[in-house]
Amino acid sequence: MPRGKPHSPYREQALKLLPWICTRCAREFPASRLRELTVHHVDGDHDNNPPDGSNWELLCIYCHENEHARVEDAKAGGGGDGKEAPPATHRPFAGLGRKLRK
Ligand SMILES: [Zn+2]
Ligand SMILES: [Zn+2]
Repeated sequence: MPRGKPHSPYREQALKLLPWICTRCAREFPASRLRELTVHHVDGDHDNNPPDGSNWELLCIYCHENEHARVEDAKAGGGGDGKEAPPATHRPFAGLGRKLRK
């Protein structure tokens, strides 16, 4: 195995491991169009590349864009997932106590 490269060639690995099908829209990709198929990291961590491929998903460029757009939306906070309304003062243990009692 050649060493010394900062980035592992996970794309190559993923393409070896996984069928050339977009996980979202189920389109199949022949070798000639493989560059439209991209490797998505399921947990969003591009450094998390287990050799069994458990953190990879093959997505076409369109679905991949969609996928990340959704994540960004969630981050931006559509609101209402219970993280609102922190107490006026910063008292982490007070919050913890409330959680435990619930
Ligand atoms: Zn797709
Ligand atoms: Zn991705």
